[in-house]
Amino acid sequence: MYTCKDSINLLMNFLDGELSQEETQHLREHLQGCSPCVDFLRTYRATPGLCKRALAARMPKEVSEKLTEYLRSKIKSAS
Ligand SMILES: [Zn+2]
Repeated sequence: MYTCKDSINLLMNFLDGELSQEETQHLREHLQGCSPCVDFLRTYRATPGLCKRALAARMPKEVSEKLTEYLRSKIKSAS
C-alpha cells in the first residue's frame, strides 16, 4: 500500500498527465482507503492559483510539505 507521500508524488504526476496506467492504479487504490488524500485531490482541483497555499495549511504535514515544494517549483518556473 502506498503512503500519502507516495500518493502525492503520483498525484502531481497525474495532474501533469505523466502517470502510467500502473501508477494510476496504485493511486486509485490509495485514494480508496484514504479520505484525506481524496479531500486533497477534490479541493486541489477546485482551487484556483494562490488559494492552494491556504489549502496546504490544512493538510497533513508530509502532504503539505510536498505540495509546498510543488507550488514553489511551479512559481519558480513561471517567473
Ligand atoms: Zn493518503
